[in-house]
Amino acid sequence: MKTYKYPFGHQSNCIRIGNLFDDMWQVHEYFHKWQRQRYKDGLPYANYNAMDHHFKELKRTTHPHWRSLPSQAVQQELMRIDNAYERFFDKLGGRPKIKRRNKFKSITFPGPAGWKLKDNRVTISFRKWEKGKWRFDRVPYTFHKHRQWHGCIRHITIKRDACGDYWFCITTDYTDMKRLPTTGESVGADFGMKDAYLTLSTGEKKHHPQPLKHSLKKLRTLNKALSRKQKGSNGWWRCVRALARLHRKVSNQRKDFHWQLATELCKRFDTIAIETLNLDGMKRLWGRKVSDLAFYQFVEILKYKCRKHKRLLKQVGQWTATTKPCSDCGYTNENLSLSDRQWTCPDCGSHHDRDINAAINILRAGIAVP
Ligand SMILES: [Zn+2]
Repeated sequence: MKTYKYPFGHQSNCIRIGNLFDDMWQVHEYFHKWQRQRYKDGLPYANYNAMDHHFKELKRTTHPHWRSLPSQAVQQELMRIDNAYERFFDKLGGRPKIKRRNKFKSITFPGPAGWKLKDNRVTISFRKWEKGKWRFDRVPYTFHKHRQWHGCIRHITIKRDACGDYWFCITTDYTDMKRLPTTGESVGADFGMKDAYLTLSTGEKKHHPQPLKHSLKKLRTLNKALSRKQKGSNGWWRCVRALARLHRKVSNQRKDFHWQLATELCKRFDTIAIETLNLDGMKRLWGRKVSDLAFYQFVEILKYKCRKHKRLLKQVGQWTATTKPCSDCGYTNENLSLSDRQWTCPDCGSHHDRDINAAINILRAGIAVP
């Protein structure tokens, strides 16, 4: 499965989508509350079919305005609720939450129903009450098609982000494969907090741009401006949007760096060894900086890239000693503290950079991993 994401330009039709989001959120809220009430009353859980039946009844009786919603999208929403509860019963997830209106961000249309796609134009079927009858109301939207999608389309999703922009996502069954020429090289990589983001066993150090750190001043200014404004006023909303745009920019900068780094590693090396991260422990130690460096995101991107380019990614277990042993003779330096960036092995006398030594150890342990 692969998803392609395209922006919807600013068009007056987008108001229709915005209203659709709000209506769909009402369905979302209603059914979650309904399930909770049923539980309180001691009734059994109502599965997807029961919810669908109830929805049809509501359309006939108390909620006739819900007939204007695209039925396929409503079915998908009910399926999502059903999935959330099933996961909860199987102890895979927590109790399903009711989203707040502004946190409700996506609607999905399955299969080829309820929409039509031609070039850079998608037509979505709404329904409207006209001349005493519910009729189809087909609304066209153009999106910026900056690349061609491949494969068979499974479903489409419309998203709204915190900036109030709309995005059009196409999910296809295409598997991305692009074998790169083998280089015969392998590398170990050590994640670091202090001086380098990634230290390679070749001795290179990759530095993280830390976009959040560089935008902190702007963020503070905007947050101050926001707190001066009256909540809910036009100026307040403008400020909220500006803040959301800045956060989006920071996240895009970070993502861009991660993709470039992952691409570079995949181009140069056949085998990449990394350590398994203990993220919770790191967050407790370092706080905001961990979120800015986003190790987890980088590892996920690297995993995807390695699958795509047929590279081997090896993850060394969390409890494998990588920092303390000397990479030349295997002597374990027990007195090494976190502040020692350089050290000399008392056994063989070789001088080590702490991170490069760890990277070499990770490479060695990674190759041993089957
Ligand atoms: Zn040594």
